Amino acid sequence: MNYKIVRLNTAAKKEIEHSVLIIYTGGTLGMAYDDDGALVPFNFGKILEKIPNLNNLNISITVISFPEPIDSSNINLNHWVDMSYIIYENYDTYDGFVVLHGTDTMAYSASMLSYMLKGLNKPVIFTGAQLPISAMRSDARENLMTSLEIAISKANGKPIVPEVCIFFNHLLLRGNRAKKVQSVHFDAFESENYPPLAESGIVIDYNYASIRPYEEGKKLRCLNKLDNSVMVLKLFPGITAQVIEHCLNMKGLKRGGAGNLWFWKQS
Ligand code: ASP
Repeated sequence: MNYKIVRLNTAAKKEIEHSVLIIYTGGTLGMAYDDDGALVPFNFGKILEKIPNLNNLNISITVISFPEPIDSSNINLNHWVDMSYIIYENYDTYDGFVVLHGTDTMAYSASMLSYMLKGLNKPVIFTGAQLPISAMRSDARENLMTSLEIAISKANGKPIVPEVCIFFNHLLLRGNRAKKVQSVHFDAFESENYPPLAESGIVIDYNYASIRPYEEGKKLRCLNKLDNSVMVLKLFPGITAQVIEHCLNMKGLKRGGAGNLWFWKQS
């Protein structure tokens, strides 16, 4: 695929201490207004102009942009394979990864990657924004800055958050527990049945007890054989046997037995 790659050095006068790979898939965060007020993809080569505070972080940043930024409501299995493969291929080169993604399906992608990246020992932080990066009151700056900070945060030389997460509006949430709950306010995500992994204020307050710990010697594998012949069947009071039977007998639907994950074609 024809990815656009931009390399930036936020520590022009200092020694580089960290490195992050940003994967820009699309979504509101990476948009800007042109002279006529229309939304156009933001040029990440100019990100230091938009977020001068990045210069305080001392990191080398590489931005890989999808050839065509996608609205996340169009995300599909191939995009998940691409995202996980980019991380897998660049795993040893970077301290952490930040995935810029539209909010509508960010929770699906973060959840999916948490299962695809087996043995992950580095931070993969999904983030996005409710307002384009060039908008005056945009949440993009805070979301991106803090995601980068989390992606490089270490304690005793080990990453503090070696898992797939979503950072949005002050909260760091486990990727496979997060859910979009808001489209008009900045607090777009919530975590279901699991506490936030961190909260950002004056400092980033990590909830160490809830974060999956770093495990020495773990090797990353990328499970990328996916199968979408599946469905979610929501049970509700009054659902009829006929509806359930009809769904389960749908042509082409794959069935998982106990202990199987339905979306994996394990080989
Ligand atoms: N429709 C956009 C998307 O999910 C909204 C956003 O970026 O938040 O890609």
